[in-house]
Amino acid sequence: MVSRIIPVENFDLVIIGATGDLARRKILPALYRLFHAGQMPESARIIGAARSDMGRDAFRAVVQDAIRQHVPKDKISADMLAGFLSAIDYTPLDATEDKGWQNLQAMLRADVIRAFYFSVGPQLFAPIAGRLHDHGLVGDSARIVVEKPFGRDLRSARELNAVLAGSFDEHRIYRIDHYLGKETVQNLMAVRFGNMLFEPLWNAQYVDHIQITVAETVGIDGRGPYYDRSGAVRDMVQNHLMQLLCLTAMEPPSIFDPDAVRDEKLKVIRALDPVAPAEIVRGQYRAGGGAACYRDEAENPSSTTESFVALKCHLSNWRWKGTPFYLRTGKRLRARVSEIAVVFKDPPHSIFGPRGPRRGNVLVIRLQPDEGMDLRVTIKEPGPGGMRLIDVPLDMSFAEALGPKGIDIPDAYERLIMDVIRGNQTLFMRGDEVEAAWAWTDPIIAAWEARGDAPVAYDPGGAGPDDSLMLLHRDGRRWREIGK
Ligand code: NAP
Repeated sequence: MVSRIIPVENFDLVIIGATGDLARRKILPALYRLFHAGQMPESARIIGAARSDMGRDAFRAVVQDAIRQHVPKDKISADMLAGFLSAIDYTPLDATEDKGWQNLQAMLRADVIRAFYFSVGPQLFAPIAGRLHDHGLVGDSARIVVEKPFGRDLRSARELNAVLAGSFDEHRIYRIDHYLGKETVQNLMAVRFGNMLFEPLWNAQYVDHIQITVAETVGIDGRGPYYDRSGAVRDMVQNHLMQLLCLTAMEPPSIFDPDAVRDEKLKVIRALDPVAPAEIVRGQYRAGGGAACYRDEAENPSSTTESFVALKCHLSNWRWKGTPFYLRTGKRLRARVSEIAVVFKDPPHSIFGPRGPRRGNVLVIRLQPDEGMDLRVTIKEPGPGGMRLIDVPLDMSFAEALGPKGIDIPDAYERLIMDVIRGNQTLFMRGDEVEAAWAWTDPIIAAWEARGDAPVAYDPGGAGPDDSLMLLHRDGRRWREIGK
């Protein structure tokens, strides 16, 4: 495999919460793959930190286990692993106490980029930002990476932004939404703004509607009580689906520059109309297929938190007035699918009479499984029998299209970590974007809380509640099948 090595400056990356699930499953394996691809400068260092009192060797053993568990075997060799582990160090510290920070300070080099990855619960963001500042760890080049959830409503997001702003300028704060690191998501911008083909049609005049689906097969087992305080709107819609909506709907920025892109995304969020209660469907999965029901997994027998949500929203701007955006996301559904489907209008007149195309073109941007794009077009069915028309997909899987030439598509975390070191914030959420997204989401949640609405039950392994199908049927439309 050929890797396109774009050198980055030397760095010290401190992972606070380095023994946790996210660090072990995502961050450390991503760093190993970067090392394997030759993307990490030779003297770059990764310093783990958490409360667990262990030494460097014990932490290296934790890292080695994580790599063996989460990196494909063909990428692991004894030499490569030993080289990577030699870049790893560890220091115990507690985010809520002053002990340990001076030790971390002594480990950091003055002349390299410093990045601090907050891989801990959000309640620790403020104490960590404060201690980094108070103990003089924030050099000129320091930057911080924070994970979701970024607040649970507008008020808490504002508070968090204000606290971080007390220690770091906005251009040093990297709020991760790993969806933005996916190849297809960036390809959405390349397809839209790098081609003449789509952009003239990308508006309410030609697009009938847009569907954004993020379906999961897993339930909430393992993180039940945590998820139960959040639900699908807070956990998925406010961040991941909102980001996909923004990139689909935004105007072309004048330049591919972090603030130019994020200014355009912000305008989309601010143009979103409030969502009427009748245009939201919330669901909660029943028991089935050998798995427990939502409430058992949430350990809350009277929970009214949604594990599924579908909603219809509109943008009040020139480009999209009149074109609905349908969003849905849920757990324990038939398949694991993330996609954006742009459904074009039917041709205004069929010269082929009743045999003419009955459905408009559909452009599907697939985030998972198998990142790629698919354009449904109408053609003549090959062979004799006159002019019979059929719809066929022009399918482009990135791995298939680009794989044989040797492009190793990086995982979202690999790309995002390197962007942090490069100082490129294009694929990170700005503070005002996050606040605007909560400002749109809060009234939706407040409305059902005020009415005391309970979610409707749905069977696992399907497409969610029937009411979600009705949301589109009422408009003479239908959802794309999940997992077909
Ligand atoms: P986790 O498994 O509970 O790990 C938390 C880490 O923080 C551990 O290393 C823990 O180690 C450390 N820690 C806890 N309290 C600390 C303190 N006072 N001072 C210093 N370190 C402390 O959590 P996680 O799943 O990795 O999640 C981390 C963050 O990422 C959360 O904000 C989560 O919402 C977010 N996130 C996680 C995922 C995921 O897939 N896991 C996905 C998206 C976002 P010690 O106990 O040794 O201190």
